[in-house]
Amino acid sequence: MIYANVIIVGGGPAGSICASELKKHGYDCLILDKHEFPRNKLCAGWIQQDVFDMVGVCEQDYPHSITRLLNFNVHIGSRLIKMKMRQYAIRRTEFDAWLLYRANVRIKHHKVRKIQKDGDYYVIDGQYYCNFIVGAGGTRCPVYKSFFTKLNPRKMDLMINTLEDEIAAQNEGEECHLWFFQHKFPGYFWYVPKKEGYINVGLGGFQAKLKKKNDNLKRHWDWLVAELERLGLADRSSLNPRGHYYFLRNSADNFQQDRVYIIGDAAALATRDMGEGIAPAIKSGFLAAEAIANGHELKYNSIRKYSLPKYKLMKNMTKAFLLNRTADLT
Ligand SMILES: Cc1cc2nc3c(=O)[nH]c(=O)nc-3n(C[C@H](O)[C@H](O)[C@H](O)COP(=O)(O)OP(=O)(O)OC[C@H]3O[C@@H](n4cnc5c(N)ncnc54)[C@H](O)[C@@H]3O)c2cc1C
Repeated sequence: MIYANVIIVGGGPAGSICASELKKHGYDCLILDKHEFPRNKLCAGWIQQDVFDMVGVCEQDYPHSITRLLNFNVHIGSRLIKMKMRQYAIRRTEFDAWLLYRANVRIKHHKVRKIQKDGDYYVIDGQYYCNFIVGAGGTRCPVYKSFFTKLNPRKMDLMINTLEDEIAAQNEGEECHLWFFQHKFPGYFWYVPKKEGYINVGLGGFQAKLKKKNDNLKRHWDWLVAELERLGLADRSSLNPRGHYYFLRNSADNFQQDRVYIIGDAAALATRDMGEGIAPAIKSGFLAAEAIANGHELKYNSIRKYSLPKYKLMKNMTKAFLLNRTADLT
């Protein structure tokens, strides 16, 4: 039998932050993850300044590769709008391992299958015992499946299905490309250059809308690859996409049941406009640690629901579109 005050299922950004915060409050934490880190995580790795602010590191002190994304090429229909923004791209394989080991808590390589309650304890797979359990296992988190499917049901119309690949490539630049309202796709496409010669390309869209039209992601992936080749950004022979699904933020607000909590993608917190999930995952890790330590109910009202300031975005994009100029969103 292995015991910890708190067991956190999943060592992604949500779980790592929650563990490191709980440790500061004097809790003995154990993280269980089905993968050994560094592990691959399908994700474009696009983040904003708030992620650095929350994890308490400045850009210069982050020990791995980081790309400043200042110029965005936004393709809307046949038009190209240039946008100035100040965003960043990290590689998830590096970022997640850095956050996890920085938490400096016990970590076990274990795939969680069964969770039961036994008196005051939660028991995982008959061998791990704890008083508090935090579900940070992403979309298919076993803590969500065991305790929250009825309390916080997934909204199928907010399910985002994705295809993505991150590869070493010749192109090294700092210009990101985004495609909206293209190829009748109910979502968007991206090309994100990363430091040290990597690129991340992919697409994410509403699965319910695709299904309704009997459509599939592969057809849109083929369109993206053709577009990347046309622009000289990638070559189809090197791309081999993989898929993952996750859920955007809904209006549910049940994230705790007794001494069980869900955070990050397990709680479906990605932003409604861009599907940005790293910042909400990190913030939810902080909030869950605070709720456990202070004994108050877990709420996510302070987590932002949108990535982009809607009014500023619409005003500047419309102006740029009409005047054929660069939209400044810095
Ligand atoms: C293609 C794609 C692109 C994206 N791009 C961006 C982006 O550019 N910017 C952004 O902010 N967000 C992006 N997101 C969303 C973002 O990746 C997630 O919101 C974020 O990773 C959530 O973090 P998390 O810690 O909740 O979960 P995760 O990072 O998914 O970590 C969950 C962990 O739990 C572990 N786990 C799962 N099941 C078990 C189990 N049974 N037992 C033990 N361990 C388990 C997994 O191994 C994993 O390590 C993207 C998502 C996708 C799919």
